[in-house]
Amino acid sequence: MNPGAPVMEMRGVGLTYPGPPPVEALRPFDLTVHHGDYLAVVGPSGAGKSTFLNIAGLLDPPTTGRYLLDGQDTASIGDARVTALRGNRIGFVFQSFHLLAHRSARENVELGMVYQRVPHRERRHRASQALHRVGLAHRMDAVPARLSGGERQRVAVARALAAEPALLLCDEPTGNLDSTTAATVLDLLDALHHQGMTIITITHDPNVARRARRIITVHDGVVDETPAPGPGAA
Ligand code: ADP
Repeated sequence: MNPGAPVMEMRGVGLTYPGPPPVEALRPFDLTVHHGDYLAVVGPSGAGKSTFLNIAGLLDPPTTGRYLLDGQDTASIGDARVTALRGNRIGFVFQSFHLLAHRSARENVELGMVYQRVPHRERRHRASQALHRVGLAHRMDAVPARLSGGERQRVAVARALAAEPALLLCDEPTGNLDSTTAATVLDLLDALHHQGMTIITITHDPNVARRARRIITVHDGVVDETPAPGPGAA
C-alpha cells in the first residue's frame, strides 16, 4: 500500500477477448481515481461495462496497459497477491446481494472477513460496527428472508465495508429494488461518500449515475469522462 498514491490508476488499459474473432471490448484508456471520488460508469448493454468492472475488480487482467491499485502495479505481483489485494482493498456490492440464506445479517457480514484471517472476536466487532453504519443495528440477528430488499442490500454494503476496503465497487446496486427502496440505498452510498469512501458504481440507470460526482461513459468499448451535472440538476 502506498498512502500517497491514487486509489486507482489505469494507463492505456484495454482488453481484447481473443476470440476467434477477437473482440476489442475496451479500447485503451487512462483513468485516475482519487481517495474520496465517487464515479458512475454508464453505457448501454454490450458497451464494455462488465469488462471494466472485471478489470477494476481484479477479476480479469487487462490485455494491454498498466493498472495500479493503491500504488501497486497489479501485473507484477503474482496471482496470490492479486487475490489478497482484491480481498483487502476492494469491497464488492452486486445487484443480487449474494447473502447466505440461513445466516443472520451479522454472520453474513462476518463471513465476508473470513478470507482476511481476521480473528473471530474482531470479526464480530467489525460486523456490528458495519451494520450500525448502514443503519441496521436493530436487524443484526435477522436472516435475509426476514429483511426487505433494501435491508438486504444494506447488509451486502456492510459486508463490503467490514473489510475496510479502499474502494467500494458496485455493480447495478439497485437493479433488484423498486425506486423508493433504491433511493434509500443510494442515500446510503451518498452518506458513505461524504464520510470519505471511494465509490465506483457500474450502472445503466441515469437515476443511479446522477448521484455520482464523476461520470465515465463506455460506448462501443470507448471509455470517456463527461462532465457531471452539478448538484441539484434534474
Ligand atoms: P456490458 O457489461 O456493457 O453489457 P460487456 O463488457 O459484457 O458489456 O461486453 C463488451 C463487449 O465484449 C460486447 O461486445 C460483448 O459481446 C463482448 N464480450 C464480452 N465477454 C466476452 C467474451 N468472453 N468473449 C468474447 N467477447 C466478449
